[in-house]
Amino acid sequence: MLFYTHEDCLKHEMQPGHPERPDRLRAILERMGSSGLLDDLNCRVAKPAAIDDLGQVHVDGFAARLQASVPESGLTTLDADTIMNPHSLDAALLASGAVQAAVKEVLDGPEVRAFCAVRPPGHHAEADAAMGFCFFNSIALGASVALEHVDRVAILDFDVHHGNGTVDIFKDRPEVLVCSSFQHPFYPNRYQDIERPNIINTPLPAGTASQAFRTAVERDWSRAIADFRPQLILVSAGFDAHRDDPLGELLLCDEDYRWITELIIGFADDYSEGRIVSALEGGYDLAALARSTELHVATLND
Ligand SMILES: [Zn+2]
Repeated sequence: MLFYTHEDCLKHEMQPGHPERPDRLRAILERMGSSGLLDDLNCRVAKPAAIDDLGQVHVDGFAARLQASVPESGLTTLDADTIMNPHSLDAALLASGAVQAAVKEVLDGPEVRAFCAVRPPGHHAEADAAMGFCFFNSIALGASVALEHVDRVAILDFDVHHGNGTVDIFKDRPEVLVCSSFQHPFYPNRYQDIERPNIINTPLPAGTASQAFRTAVERDWSRAIADFRPQLILVSAGFDAHRDDPLGELLLCDEDYRWITELIIGFADDYSEGRIVSALEGGYDLAALARSTELHVATLND
């Protein structure tokens, strides 16, 4: 399978103590390197998305406004927890460019699965707003690229936080199915009650553990996927629903990430010619993040 990353994703750094920190990606790469998994993957160095390409999913002028906000030194605060240093925009463009390229390569074949180990994350970024550690909505850009080649794309999001940005961008685009499981009530508390045939929300109360999570996701997502028959599956792979995560209050364990990856592989084999492009979103306990991501990627690579 394909594995996209770029070392400059490590240069984006917000204030000291911020949970969305370079060590997250370092921990993933170190674990996958020492286990030998990286050697089994077809590794690609990500290239940045073009600023103009972000206009496919963000409103006119949004990307240029962010570009103009990049500080020459020090930090620019966009909201309480979304902050730019001089390298942030480049990292965000690399994250989006990775997903963009992975989608193209998977649709071209012969590789049908890809993982993008990138940061900053993207699923909170709405059409007209950077928020929640996110600048550009990378997975949404991937879906937009795919729709130049196929008619139906599903985005599956198992981050502990609702993928509000992805919902915002695709709420009136029936060619994209968005399924999101998330702790509720919880940040960002937007669009959790939206009613659209192509938006499947699976809210979970704090304290939800493995079995209830699996039951809810299988119940909601399996029927939606069978009805929609996506030609490509994209994954917003956040690992902050893990019981060790300091931000979330769901109680998933490592094995749940193998389970959900196998579920998604089953969907892709049934409807999408096996095609899956997954991208890193959240996950803030370094050890749990590294183990869970490795399990996700290893399962995709099986
Ligand atoms: Zn999250």
